[in-house]
Amino acid sequence: MIEESRAPSNFIRQIIDEDLASAKHSEVVTRFPPEPNGYLHIGHAKSICLNFGIARDYKGRCHLRMDDTNPAKEEQEYVDAIKADVRWLGFDWNGHEYHAADYFPRLYEWAEKLVREGKAFVDDQSADEVRRTRGTLTTPGAPSPFRDRSPEENLDLLRRMRKGEFPDGSRTLRAKIDMASPNLNLRDPVMYRIRREHHDRTGDEWCIYPTYDWAHGESDAIEGITHSLCTLEFEAHRPLYDWYLEQIEVPHRPRQIEFARLNITYTMLSKRHLGALVAEGLVSGWDDPRMPTIAGLRRRGYTPEALRLFCDRIGVAKADSTVEVELLENTLRELLNVSVKRALCVHRPLKVVVENWEDGKVDEIEAPFLADDPSAGSRKLPFTRELFIERDDFMEVPGKGFKRLSPGKEVRLRHAYVLRCNSVTKDSRGEVTELRATIDPDTRSGNPKDGRKVGGAVHWVSAPLSKPATLRLYDRLFRVPNPGAGEADFRTQLNPHSLEILDGARIEPAVAEAQPMERWQFERKGYYVADAKDSKPGAPVFNLIVPLRDTWAKGGG
Ligand code: ATP
Ligand code: MG
Repeated sequence: MIEESRAPSNFIRQIIDEDLASAKHSEVVTRFPPEPNGYLHIGHAKSICLNFGIARDYKGRCHLRMDDTNPAKEEQEYVDAIKADVRWLGFDWNGHEYHAADYFPRLYEWAEKLVREGKAFVDDQSADEVRRTRGTLTTPGAPSPFRDRSPEENLDLLRRMRKGEFPDGSRTLRAKIDMASPNLNLRDPVMYRIRREHHDRTGDEWCIYPTYDWAHGESDAIEGITHSLCTLEFEAHRPLYDWYLEQIEVPHRPRQIEFARLNITYTMLSKRHLGALVAEGLVSGWDDPRMPTIAGLRRRGYTPEALRLFCDRIGVAKADSTVEVELLENTLRELLNVSVKRALCVHRPLKVVVENWEDGKVDEIEAPFLADDPSAGSRKLPFTRELFIERDDFMEVPGKGFKRLSPGKEVRLRHAYVLRCNSVTKDSRGEVTELRATIDPDTRSGNPKDGRKVGGAVHWVSAPLSKPATLRLYDRLFRVPNPGAGEADFRTQLNPHSLEILDGARIEPAVAEAQPMERWQFERKGYYVADAKDSKPGAPVFNLIVPLRDTWAKGGG
């Protein structure tokens, strides 16, 4: 098994090691700050593994902070889902759950302090005007005509903003920093906007809401965060993060450190766009097994171990890059290969009548679930006169290199006998409906006595004693490597074959009672999980987690 007790080192862990060595900090406190406006995706898993992994390895703590500064009406579903997902990934915030909205009063007090010190002002310009006068990367911005209001006037206006005396969008509170700064984020950034919107946590108490930049660093400071880890797009915001923190009195200033966000080929990681797929009914929900959400991956059959190991393997770097989705799939296969029991499942059945086997006679063949691991146990495979094999394991006119069944040829039936096809029955349209065959009775779980070679081995089930199953064959949700990139509308890039449902599959009896979320390998096919919502013992519905081998490499899909 793969070692996983401590995550590999990276540049952030090196910074932490130095901070501990120099006694800058005695304890490490990180946070994971999702905005509860959607379900978490595998990009968030990277951030979770990083932040909670550091807290675990340095015996510090990691806060779960709902970054709910944006007013929203229904966030409880998302808050609950976020907590369930973090726990499922194997992490715990040990009671340190916080909500940025709970800091609104503190933030407001600090805003008044900045106003009194002449470091913030109320601007009567519209959002449009503020944007237009901001300047460009090569030209400075134009100072607001309201920039030089007195602290008294500003304080009065800010209090009236807070009381709700002015219409939405009519004024903002802006920090007074430097309209000529080469960093656009420092050009008198907006701290508060007037928005009469209901907030799930604070109700209608507030009609002014803080911006992300103003709220985030101060929230970190309130919680005593030592290392505030965020994705690279916030790098240019760091001077503002620091400027805001310099204006307030806190025992320890948190340090923002940026790392590269996770991008994966054939995968779209944006809550907003994933939310659109859900809202427009293009998937069955946030937990659709094709979704890269943690809930979707869980329902698809991914294990938390696989996601954590994947996050360890991709590492944490300072430069953006895109990880091949095959790395994720191969990591999962590697773990499932050694842990998941194997069984036989015929996806598209073709009936075989064994002519030299009596009707009603059953041979119960003992077969281990995992050949290399007797502790996984075994089951009895019933062998009967009528069997099912996979339709595409038979070819009437075999192509070059085809080693499976065709008229006059032999195959090995997995765990059972060598079978020879004698004749083919077809319907009026020429479709093969049944094969007549004989078995070599001397080959029960062994090789032919005369030493003749049998080419292929195929899976099979008893026709009368197997059970029906529904299989959902999932494939990539998108057919392009970089969905949504550039001008492209991701809706037009969906893979039309991302879900195929097989109603007529047949499984061996041992699998029919699978509990929801039980995982199986169906030999020669793939890894499957009994669906969490739709599968019932006795009426199983299996989701394809991942095929045994990468089928896209040979241009499939
Ligand atoms: P999205 O763009 O999908 O909405 P977000 O960054 O807006 O993502 P948040 O809920 O604000 O979503 O993110 C919570 C945390 O997860 C942040 O610290 C953010 O940097 C991190 N995060 C989000 N997406 C990724 C990603 N693809 N890779 C690594 N970390 C990510
Ligand atoms: Mg966000």
